[in-house]
Amino acid sequence: MIKPLLQDYSQQGEDLRALIGQIQQHATVHAYLLSGEKGLGKRTFAGLMGQALLCQDPHFRPCGHCRNCTLASAGEHPDLAVIAKGAPLAPGIPKDRTTIPVDDIREMIRFCSVRSSDGNMRIVLIFDADRMTVQAQNCLLKTLEDPPEDICIVLVTEHTEALLPTVLSRCRIIRFKPWDDAVILRILKEQGIGQERAEEVLAAADGSIGKALELASDEAYWKLKKEVKDNFFYTFRRSDILRISNGWKNRKGEAEQILSMLEADVRVLLTSRNAEADNPGLNAFPPPWQRFSREAEPERFLMLMDAVAQARKQLLYSANFQTVIEKLLFLFMGEGNQWSE
Ligand SMILES: [Zn+2]
Repeated sequence: MIKPLLQDYSQQGEDLRALIGQIQQHATVHAYLLSGEKGLGKRTFAGLMGQALLCQDPHFRPCGHCRNCTLASAGEHPDLAVIAKGAPLAPGIPKDRTTIPVDDIREMIRFCSVRSSDGNMRIVLIFDADRMTVQAQNCLLKTLEDPPEDICIVLVTEHTEALLPTVLSRCRIIRFKPWDDAVILRILKEQGIGQERAEEVLAAADGSIGKALELASDEAYWKLKKEVKDNFFYTFRRSDILRISNGWKNRKGEAEQILSMLEADVRVLLTSRNAEADNPGLNAFPPPWQRFSREAEPERFLMLMDAVAQARKQLLYSANFQTVIEKLLFLFMGEGNQWSE
């Protein structure tokens, strides 16, 4: 999967800009808490932060290719410890535990007490920090109150409220927010994603850089998306519908994704109607639907959206998937045909 660079995070606001500067100058404090919703890039940032603090490059950290960067990004650097729910640090803790037990934090304290043989900082990343038991948090608190030299502990959580106020008060809290569309778009382009795909990703990402990058490189997603577009917007003959709906009949598991994609397509058509400039997403549709997008009354867009919402409801009450899909196919074909010349 493609990932953003450390510097990309400067777009997240003043706190992150300052932190990136501190990382570059090795002027970090001993504990940070990265908070914010899922998909905003907190874990990736924590990983990059660990890598940058260990990187041997004198100018641009993390360089991504020195020995320390390579080991750190593979999770094998001896001076970097990662603790997460289901990925315990201490030996003997079962992997299926949903909490981070005190034993893990004790092991972390042992790790922090040994000085690095290479003179590196010692870095601890605690993902799912809210999963620490109260006992684990209290144990961590002792280290936070009297930290050894040259350590940096980075807690990552979506649920700050699950952490003890005493723990929070000992960490510098960095809040991540949803990313601006323009920034996501730029990062996607820098990662080599084409304009059309990038814009479609944007519509589905809701400000989540994680979701955007994941979708952009998820080939199965793009294959399904193309299939949905081909089936619903490029079908103009009744005789094709049974064949197409037959192809869907055993794919109820993908129903939600298919319906969301269909909705997203209708939204693209609607956005184009309201936009002043030509929407590049529109080129993915055949001429009748391009005409629809430019000329149809708003009620027609609503009618399509409604039909998709109805389909979702029917599936909830376990209607037959093929029947539901077939109805939608007929509806879209009928509308498309009205705009054919
Ligand atoms: Zn490096």
